[in-house]
Amino acid sequence: MDGRELIRFDRVTKRFGDNVVLDDLEFRVDSGKHVTLIGPSGSGKTTILRLLMTLLKPDEGTITVGGEYLTHEEKNGKLVPAGEKHIREVRKNIGMVFQQFNLFPNMKVLRNITEAPVNVLGLSKEEADTRARDLLELVGLTEHMDKYPSQLSGGQQQRVAIARALAMRPQVLLLDEVTSALDPELVAGVLDVLRDIAHTTDITMLCVTHEMSFARDISDDVLMFNEGKVIESGSPDKMFNDPDHPRTREFLGAVL
Ligand code: ADP
Repeated sequence: MDGRELIRFDRVTKRFGDNVVLDDLEFRVDSGKHVTLIGPSGSGKTTILRLLMTLLKPDEGTITVGGEYLTHEEKNGKLVPAGEKHIREVRKNIGMVFQQFNLFPNMKVLRNITEAPVNVLGLSKEEADTRARDLLELVGLTEHMDKYPSQLSGGQQQRVAIARALAMRPQVLLLDEVTSALDPELVAGVLDVLRDIAHTTDITMLCVTHEMSFARDISDDVLMFNEGKVIESGSPDKMFNDPDHPRTREFLGAVL
């Protein structure tokens, strides 16, 4: 699977009123790669993840995931806006972890993880349970499976959210500043789990983060955004040690 194109943004423009948030954006992510988006606040990074989750639609351009158009479908040789069914199918390949965890507060930890595999993928309760228990072990929360989210720390809740996203076996995991709502002492535990996943699975990751040492550890490629465009990209080594673009140097100088 490695090396094949999984995500492609083709001339994508997204505006909010007069604010051009993504400007004729082109980029691609190959299967199995871990790509980190960096750049100043407001440069459009989260908008990219929200477009991939179909929480937003592009004003112009197309997005493909695994060769399938995300927001369009082909009918009689023509590209038309995608219907709900098509969007749901393509989206099954995409998992996302949000800043604010977004767990179901009225469900215990185990049920948070089994809910979508049972209801969306049609797994039996037993299959979903086995999958969830394996994932809880991976994120180090086996002993907490019968608790409600409110009984867990923020870091533990975020690890449940990671397990919940992985339970759908998505091809790509989107991570949107997943540690920025956490108390500082809880950040490392979450990043350790993500490092482990990055190093031991073949899942593709697209990650928005301000944790530069984490980005350096897990990324194959780092993309620097500024005003809705990728102004520079490269290996973490190149981007963090010897960036070409003055704006990248200025940004990293301020955050490192
Ligand atoms: P980043 O993740 O790089 O900080 P975002 O993608 O969150 O940037 O935001 C890019 C720009 O889009 C910002 O100027 C933000 O104010 C604007 N924006 C994001 N979401 C909305 C929205 N739902 N409505 C209006 N403006 C938005």
